[in-house]
Amino acid sequence: MKRHTSTWMKRQFEFENCAECGGDERDHEETELLGNPFAHCRVEIYDNGGETFDRFTIILDDDYVFGMSENPFHPQGFSQFCGQLSYDELSAVACRKGIKKTFNEVPEEVARAIRDRY
Ligand SMILES: [Zn+2]
Repeated sequence: MKRHTSTWMKRQFEFENCAECGGDERDHEETELLGNPFAHCRVEIYDNGGETFDRFTIILDDDYVFGMSENPFHPQGFSQFCGQLSYDELSAVACRKGIKKTFNEVPEEVARAIRDRY
């Protein structure tokens, strides 16, 4: 999915990444908030600390849920689309699945596997 990145978006992340998700312009969607441009995080990453094999739960575009192991590109790793959930279901998943993390706090492979999805 190739998206147009505006000059405004590029400027938002020219000198620092997003405080909330740790991502840059690739990881955001330009929307509008109270009449002003706003960079909305496309990804939420939850980490259960290794309690289960599908350690990371990824919510993409507030809608699509993925499960990933620590090594999603390994033949014995795991990176799978789990479905599209309603808002209430997503809230339940997010609560269950551990601590919210940024791109900088997860293994490089996991960050790459997430970005492969868009
Ligand atoms: Zn963000």
